[in-house]
Amino acid sequence: MILLDSVSKQYSGDSSPALDSVSLHIEPNEFVFLVGKSGAGKSTLMKMITKEEVPDSGKIIIGGIDLDYVKKRHIPGYRRRLGVVFQDFKLLPRRTVYENVAFALEIAGMSGKDIRKTVPKVLDLVDLGDQAKKFPDQLSGGQQQRVSIARSVARQPKILIADEPTANLDKLTTEEIIGLLKKINDFGTTILVTTHNENIVNNLQKRVITLKDGKIINDQKNNGIYKLDEKPAPARVMQTPGHALRQRRRVI
Ligand code: ADP
Repeated sequence: MILLDSVSKQYSGDSSPALDSVSLHIEPNEFVFLVGKSGAGKSTLMKMITKEEVPDSGKIIIGGIDLDYVKKRHIPGYRRRLGVVFQDFKLLPRRTVYENVAFALEIAGMSGKDIRKTVPKVLDLVDLGDQAKKFPDQLSGGQQQRVSIARSVARQPKILIADEPTANLDKLTTEEIIGLLKKINDFGTTILVTTHNENIVNNLQKRVITLKDGKIINDQKNNGIYKLDEKPAPARVMQTPGHALRQRRRVI
C-alpha cells in the first residue's frame, strides 16, 4: 500500500540528508506510528508520500501508483486519493463545518446529490452531526480536528496520513482523536501517523517505525512502543501473557 525503496533526500544547503536510503513497506489496513526526534525526517517522509517533495533517489509506490510517473499537473488529483490530516487543521474559516466537508467533495467532482447524502454521514462518524452549521472558530480544537478528519475521509481514501494530528490538543482530546483514527482504520483505511506522544503510541500497541538522522533505526511490527534510540527498551517482566500485559500497562 505504501512502499519506499532506498529513498534519499537532501535539501539544498543542508550538510546531511533528511532521508538516507529509507525502505519500508506498509500493508493495506495497517496502523503505523512514525516517531523520531525533531529533525529526524518524519515530515520529509510524509511529504514524499504526498509528493510535496521528490526524492533525490529511490522509488515510491503508493496504492499501486509509481510517483515517478505522476506528472505535475496530476499531483492535485493524486493527493485527493489520499486523506491528509494536519496538526493545524487547515479548515476554511469562512465556511461552516458542513461546507468545509462539502467543498472537499465538490473539488473531487462529486455530484450535489451525492454530497448531500455523504456529508451528514461523515459528520455523524466524527460525532459532529449537531455542529454542522457552526464555523471553525466556534469549535474547540478537538472538534476542529474532527472536521478536518471528516473532510479527509469523506472521499473514502484507502490511505490516511496525519502529521502530528494531536500536537495542539490536550490529553483527553488527543485520546478522542486517536480513537477516531482507530475507528477509521477498523473500517479498512491504512493509517500512518507521526507523533511525539509517547502515551498514545504505547497504549495502541501498533506498528512503530523510528527514524533517526534520516534512517529507520527500528521497525517494531507488532505491539510497538515509543522508542527514539537504538538502545534496548527497559526489560519487561514476562510471566504469563496476562501478567506481562498488566506489567506493561503499569509502566505506561
Ligand atoms: P521532522 O519532521 O522529524 O522534525 P524534517 O523532515 O522536518 O524532520 O527534517 C529533517 C531534516 O531536513 C532536518 O535536518 C531539517 O532541518 C531539514 N529540512 C527539512 N525541511 C527543509 C527545507 N525545506 N529546507 C532545508 N532543510 C530542511
